[in-house]
Amino acid sequence: MRQQGQQHPTPGSAAAMKFRTRINPAIEARIPKMADIEEHGQFVVVTCGLCRKSHRYYPRDIQALLGNVPFLNIEQYFHCVTCDEGLYMKAKLETPSAKERNGLVVRRLVEVKTVRRPVWRDEKL
Ligand SMILES: [Zn+2]
Repeated sequence: MRQQGQQHPTPGSAAAMKFRTRINPAIEARIPKMADIEEHGQFVVVTCGLCRKSHRYYPRDIQALLGNVPFLNIEQYFHCVTCDEGLYMKAKLETPSAKERNGLVVRRLVEVKTVRRPVWRDEKL
């Protein structure tokens, strides 16, 4: 089993922040950000290409975790808990009608836990 948070950063982890893509600011300005997506009543749907499992998120929850990030390579912040992989995640926007919204399952952010993980080093005396 792979060590979580290393090759496949979980949302909001320090490792995830390092993976943040740098793009031309003029282009970035035209990409909708989480607050815009929220305003348009859209959802972010992240699918694992390996096991095909999908989850639907409120942009406001992603914003709470990552800040008002643009909808660009957003999948890099997600990790599939089913197959313990983060390499095959794909994100898309979903715009359900009022009728379609009825009964939709949305994965909500409950809390952000800070994980204590020991880091060891061998020292020569
Ligand atoms: Zn998966």
